[in-house]
Amino acid sequence: MLQSEQVDCLVIGSGFGGSVAASRLSSAGKKVVLLERGKEWKTSDEQDTFSSYRHPDGRSAWLSDETVLFEPQPIPRFTGLVERCVEDGVTVWVAAGVGGGSLVYNTVLLRPSQENFEKVFASEVSYSDFVKYFDRVYAVMQPEQIPDEVLNTHYYLSSRVFLEQAAKAGLHTEKLFIASSWDIAKQEISGEKRPSAIDGEIWYGINSGMKKSLDRNYLDIGLRTGNLEIRPLHNVTGIREDDSDGFAVHYQRIDSSGKSLEEGTITTRRLFLGAGSIGTSRLLIKAKGKGTLPKLNDFVGKFWGDNGDTFATRNVGTETNPGQGGPASVVIKHHDNPISPQTIIVYPQWDAPEGTLTSLGMSIPQDHGEFRYDDRDESVKLFWPIDSPGVRKVLDGVNHTYSLMDACIDIEAEAPDSQDSGQTSNGRTHPTTQAVNGITAHPLGGVVMGKACDYYGRVMGYDGLYVMDGAFIPGSTAATNPALTIAAFAERSIENIIANDL
Ligand SMILES: Cc1cc2nc3c(=O)[nH]c(=O)nc-3n(C[C@H](O)[C@H](O)[C@H](O)COP(=O)(O)OP(=O)(O)OC[C@H]3O[C@@H](n4cnc5c(N)ncnc54)[C@H](O)[C@@H]3O)c2cc1C
Repeated sequence: MLQSEQVDCLVIGSGFGGSVAASRLSSAGKKVVLLERGKEWKTSDEQDTFSSYRHPDGRSAWLSDETVLFEPQPIPRFTGLVERCVEDGVTVWVAAGVGGGSLVYNTVLLRPSQENFEKVFASEVSYSDFVKYFDRVYAVMQPEQIPDEVLNTHYYLSSRVFLEQAAKAGLHTEKLFIASSWDIAKQEISGEKRPSAIDGEIWYGINSGMKKSLDRNYLDIGLRTGNLEIRPLHNVTGIREDDSDGFAVHYQRIDSSGKSLEEGTITTRRLFLGAGSIGTSRLLIKAKGKGTLPKLNDFVGKFWGDNGDTFATRNVGTETNPGQGGPASVVIKHHDNPISPQTIIVYPQWDAPEGTLTSLGMSIPQDHGEFRYDDRDESVKLFWPIDSPGVRKVLDGVNHTYSLMDACIDIEAEAPDSQDSGQTSNGRTHPTTQAVNGITAHPLGGVVMGKACDYYGRVMGYDGLYVMDGAFIPGSTAATNPALTIAAFAERSIENIIANDL
């Protein structure tokens, strides 16, 4: 049966952009409905909400017959947490669930430096004015730095080795601010809670409840106003202009196997897109391709980037305890790297060999990808120029940083099966780290500021249509993990929209 209704403000997607918008709109007295394709995930004392890395099940992946992180393993099809989008030149991981990426992420909320911020964002966004929005997100999400008493346990050995290596190479390090409760990590360590974060179980959710995910702060604030209604397992399939009422949004209400139980249309004058870079871009490009939102401009689908992400598993020739000790808690900032600025975090990987560190580098890509619509099957595909000099530069940059660290490894202690090696003067070998790219958990762009939108997320061509999420950001959050910057831009945009448009 086709449902039909009209609402004041409609938000699609409950990640960082969607949650900030829904929370601030409802707190400003607006009636808000939020449609989220994924399910709710509430942690409990039983500590069995999420799948584990070591024994994965359907909860780990979005409607997939196999796991989508680490070595593939068969699983039942379920509306689980992580979706893998295999695109042209890049594979992208995104989240699904009430709270979006905040359910799966490493909880890192890292501020870009002013210098890097100004390399990415136009002068219309002044860094000195923008800082208050970082503060605003921190005030709600309450990130914390790892206490020394936790860092000094054997669980966090990999973080300490990473810090020591960086110090030897003369690189700047910091403790990260992460939206996780270290008190709960302490309870895991003392045995009051079962090991979860300390066992490196992060990306499928942390069963001990350590993550301060968006459902526990921004969305909770919105719900407490009585003005916000969240509808999980509502997958939006189309958006069109509606002559009398702004926009008509078509959705399917699905069960936990993804089967459609019901279809419906909601009309609204205020539509806020928070389906993420991939989700929002797909919806708008499809609408433009099918002619249901014909006034979208030709920049829609352009200026996509992978945030300069690279991954490396590095042999460091000493014990590391690599499968434990999460979430990521320390960072190297090598922003004066002569090739490309680099920010590198170390994170636990349960199946990494002893003696290795797994790390994620982030930079500023010098090239852009784009989404294209295929009217034969109404599909949207992302194209990323993986071999272009601009993308290669990021890889060369991170490998340069790793070469400084590799050079400091104690060769006598080095494990015999170290990676590709180069001879040193005494005939022994140093490991040579080769990072890889073409995979990202940080998709950004597709409906970007100054091109497809104004600098507050108002989509050009349509009054009342707004982009709040990572689609708004032009390809990079300036050599940082993106969640904080996405949320801060959403804070800035929604403040302006509430003041001027509603
Ligand atoms: C494994 C992993 C680890 C990460 N770690 C970090 C980290 O430590 N720090 C950091 O800054 N970033 C991290 N990220 C990236 C971060 O999660 C994203 O940058 C961020 O969540 C993007 O926010 P967003 O608002 O753009 O969209 P998202 O958070 O992706 O939210 C989009 C939401 O929209 C929903 N949606 C999509 N399409 C539809 C549709 N058609 N109908 C209804 N709902 C829809 C999705 O289910 C999702 O819940 C990580 C990502 C992953 C996958």
